[in-house]
Amino acid sequence: MTKKVRVLRSRLAPRGYVMNMFGVLLTRNKEMITPALINHELIHTAQMRELAYIPFYLIYIFEWLWRLITTRNFYRAYRTISFEREAYAHGHDRRYLRRRKRWAQWRRESTD
Ligand SMILES: [Zn+2]
Repeated sequence: MTKKVRVLRSRLAPRGYVMNMFGVLLTRNKEMITPALINHELIHTAQMRELAYIPFYLIYIFEWLWRLITTRNFYRAYRTISFEREAYAHGHDRRYLRRRKRWAQWRRESTD
């Protein structure tokens, strides 16, 4: 079962990426929206809700900048952000959100 998610076409989203703004997905190309991607974004929405939204974005940006300094690689910095590690580890599993634990992005067992 795929939950219904609002998807809007927007130039705010970087080419080839989807931006999740408070649970609404922004993309330049709606064709790239797949069930696995929606599930990935629903994991981010759960992370956001848990952090009351704004802190999610602040932590996300600071962690990305920190990882950019330590990895010196845009893509690797992005993929190793704790929020992304959890979303990529479980994006294929549509039942994951039902058993997801609080603060899962910072639990080792949820991000490996
Ligand atoms: Zn993501």
